[in-house]
Amino acid sequence: MALIVQKYGGTSMGSVERIQNVARRVAKWHAAGHQVIVVPSAMAGETNRLLGLANEISAQPDPREVDMLCATGEQASSALLAMALMSQGVPARSYAGWQVPIRTDSAHTKARVKSIESERLREDLDEGRVVVVTGFQGVDEEGNITTLGRGGSDTSAVAIAAAMGADECMIFTDVDGVYTTDPRVAPEARRMRVISFEEMLELASLGSKILQIRAVEFAGKYRVPLRVLSSLTDPLLPIEEESVSGTLITFEEDLQMEAAVVSGIAFSRDEAKFTLLGVPDKPGVAYSILGPVAAANIDVDVILQNQSVDGTTDFSFTVNRNDFARTYKLLQEQVGPAVGAKEIIPDDNVCKVSIVGIGMRSHVGVASLMFRTLADEGINIQMISTSEIKTSVVIADKYMELAVRALHKAFELDQDPAEKDQE
Ligand code: ASP
Ligand code: MG
Repeated sequence: MALIVQKYGGTSMGSVERIQNVARRVAKWHAAGHQVIVVPSAMAGETNRLLGLANEISAQPDPREVDMLCATGEQASSALLAMALMSQGVPARSYAGWQVPIRTDSAHTKARVKSIESERLREDLDEGRVVVVTGFQGVDEEGNITTLGRGGSDTSAVAIAAAMGADECMIFTDVDGVYTTDPRVAPEARRMRVISFEEMLELASLGSKILQIRAVEFAGKYRVPLRVLSSLTDPLLPIEEESVSGTLITFEEDLQMEAAVVSGIAFSRDEAKFTLLGVPDKPGVAYSILGPVAAANIDVDVILQNQSVDGTTDFSFTVNRNDFARTYKLLQEQVGPAVGAKEIIPDDNVCKVSIVGIGMRSHVGVASLMFRTLADEGINIQMISTSEIKTSVVIADKYMELAVRALHKAFELDQDPAEKDQE
C-alpha cells in the first residue's frame, strides 16, 4: 500500500463527464489498496472567468477579495469530484484549504505555503476514504483565504505530498510527459522517462507550460518524487502501466544508468541583447552599467565582456525581450553617457538555446560538440554561458529552430538512453 497524491489540472476537470473519469481513475487506485489524496484545479476556464468578473467591477480589485473569489473555483471542482467518487461507491470527502488547514503567508494572489496540518487528512485516509483537497488555496494567520498564484494547484499537491510523506505526487495533465525539447520545433522529440530535479529546473522553459516551476523546486527541496502523466488515457488503464507512464522527476542518485549526458534542449525566443562599445576597462564599469539596470528591476541574463586592447572594452548583456524598450532608453539616456560608451548596439533578434544534462559534470567535450554542431550549420554564436549542468548560446533568432533540431540530433536525443545501452 502506498500513499499517493494525485493532482488533476483544469482540463482534466473540465466537464462533469471528465470529473467522472477522474473519479474512475482515482477509484481504481483506491480499489488496489492505495491511500489517495486528490488535489484538483478549478474546471477549465473557471479561474479566468472569475477574474474577468472581478475586472468588470474594478480595474484593480482588492487582492483579498480576488482570493476569496478565485478560491471558489477549486471548492466547486473538489466537491463535484467527491460526489462523483461517492456515486461510484468510493467513500470520499472534500476539504477547502482553510479546513485542512493549509497555512500560508498573507501575500494575497501569490501566497507561499508555510505548513500543513496532516491530522484530519490522516484520519480520513485511515478510515478508508479518498480525500479531496482544493488546489491553489490556503489560509493565512488571520484566517483570510489566500491563493498561491496561477497554476498554484501543482504547488498545493506537492506541499500536501511533502507534509503527508507521500510516496509519489502524480500530476495528471493534458500532455503525456516532459519532452527532450518542444515537439513543435523538433518533431523527433521524445518523452523522457526520468529526469532529475536539477535538470527539470534548468529545462523550465520546456516544463513550465506543463507544471508550475515553483512546484518542482518545492518537490526537490522536500524530496517528493513527482510524476507528470496524461489524464487523457483510459481511466481504467492497468495500474502497472500507469505507474510507470509519463515522466518521473526524481533525485540524481535514482537515475543511475538512465542518466544521459545531455537530457534536453531548452530555448527561449524572448531575448534581447545590448552591446556597449568602447567603455573604459577599469574597476566599477560592470557595476555602473548593470547597477542602474538592476535598480530598474530589469533581469539580466547572459553577460559578456571582452579583453581590452586600448584601455576600452565592449560589454554585452541580454534581457527579456519585454524589457527591450525600457532597457534601451535607460542605456541611451543614463548609462551610456555615464560610462562614456562610444556606441550602444541594440538587438532584439536574438534567442537563447541551451543544452542541459547532469552528465555534463562528468563528461568532457559536451560543449565542444554543441559548438561544432552549430558551426556545421553555419550558425554564429554571439554569446556563451555555462553552468555545471547547462551550456547556453545566444544566436540570431532566425536560426533557433535549425539549432534546436541539429543539437537534438547531435546529442542523439531521439534515442531512448535505456535502449541505447543495450546496443
Ligand atoms: N485554478 C488556478 C489557475 O487557473 C490554479 C491551477 O489551476 O493550478 O491558475
Ligand atoms: Mg496548471
